[in-house]
Amino acid sequence: PDPSNTEPPVTPGTFRQASRKPRYRVVLLGDPGVGKTSLVNLFAGVQERDLLDQHGGAAYERRLTVDGEETTLLVLDTWEPEQRGEESQRRSHCLQIGNAYIIVYSVTDRDSFESASELRIQLRRARQAEDIPIILVGNKTDLVRCREVSEEEGQACAAVFDCKFIETSAALQHNVDELFEGVVRQIRLRQGGKKS
Ligand code: GDP
Repeated sequence: PDPSNTEPPVTPGTFRQASRKPRYRVVLLGDPGVGKTSLVNLFAGVQERDLLDQHGGAAYERRLTVDGEETTLLVLDTWEPEQRGEESQRRSHCLQIGNAYIIVYSVTDRDSFESASELRIQLRRARQAEDIPIILVGNKTDLVRCREVSEEEGQACAAVFDCKFIETSAALQHNVDELFEGVVRQIRLRQGGKKS
């Protein structure tokens, strides 16, 4: 039996390397309504969605095997929109605690695509010296007729901002596993086999 099964729920402030298997914190960023919660629900399964983090946002933990190696991802869905231009504590906390980031926009909402670029800039500012994996995600590809952002634009943006890119549809469950597996691979590439 795996001893990590009996551990209490992990909150960001108390995150520890308790077992030998690597565990990583992944933070979801993006405008409201782009599909962050839908994506993470598909990843974690609804039954695992009840871990609440210390700020009241949702944290989802799941083990997954990628390229034959097991990893635990703790995915935090706690991002909140900026209010009256003020930087909230929760926002700066989110930008500090991730081992990796998923920046989501909706391909049907150009404003959310602009926000994604802005978030990338904020993240770079917050974690200047670090090379953190970032995946840019264009979600809602099933809404073909409402598309405002092409796949090429997404790719070009990712190239400029030096991050990975994938398009997903939470509604069709398209590329969602690939997204989270990609996160694990990006983390491993940078860790060079070390644990977090
Ligand atoms: P969040 O605010 O970023 O967490 O976004 P939600 O996950 O709450 O999604 C906002 C709305 O978009 C909900 O009504 C979802 O059902 C819908 N939604 C999310 N992902 C998709 C998608 O891939 N396709 C479509 N058609 N709707 C989606």
